[in-house]
Amino acid sequence: MKEVLEELKIYLSWLKEMGINSVYLLPEQRKMLEKLSSKQQLLQEIKIELGDCKRCELWKTRHKIVFGEGPAEAKVVLVGEAPGHEEDLQGKPFVGAAGELLTKMLKAIGLSREEIYITNVVKCRPPHNRNPKLQEIEQCKPFLIKQLNIIKPSVICTLGSIATHTLLQKDIPISHLRGRVHLWQGIKLIPTFHPAYLLRNPGSKKLAWEDLKLLKKVLEKSI
Ligand code: URA
Repeated sequence: MKEVLEELKIYLSWLKEMGINSVYLLPEQRKMLEKLSSKQQLLQEIKIELGDCKRCELWKTRHKIVFGEGPAEAKVVLVGEAPGHEEDLQGKPFVGAAGELLTKMLKAIGLSREEIYITNVVKCRPPHNRNPKLQEIEQCKPFLIKQLNIIKPSVICTLGSIATHTLLQKDIPISHLRGRVHLWQGIKLIPTFHPAYLLRNPGSKKLAWEDLKLLKKVLEKSI
């Protein structure tokens, strides 16, 4: 979608150069464009609000803030825990080994990364990949909530216990929460194992596959 908007921009500026200053859009086309650009703009505003964040201690050791990436109109949002080493260097979510597995898992259910919005509960890498502290989660959580409220996807998939517990506010093991659909502020939420956990425990990949099939089914029903 980003490419489509870029192409549209080029086309419009070309028309302008040719002396054409307005184009006719059908009401539904106009509505769609307005909605798209406003969602993207709102996400951009949240990123600006996050700024060069120093709300918790993690800024001291991070290289880059990993805000999240993907289309603002995505039907699926994946929520991970926190950036790891590679993500911290690149400023992009899930680009390391866990990300590679995640991309494969998505492909297996016919989804590409480009059509999904991916972010984390905590936007900066905790040193040595330790679990984010409660206070760090609390500082960063409002940004995740704002991202979700702007995108309003059909389905949220939480990866691992930290993302799942942060949104569902249920202190129940992920192994009990996964495998079914929950609701977060009226949006369907499907918890599954974190891909880094699956790399360490390949025996659980079968269960994650069940979760992804459920995600696909729920997504197809909602379109
Ligand atoms: N693990 C996460 O939870 N998020 C990332 O972005 C990378 C690894």
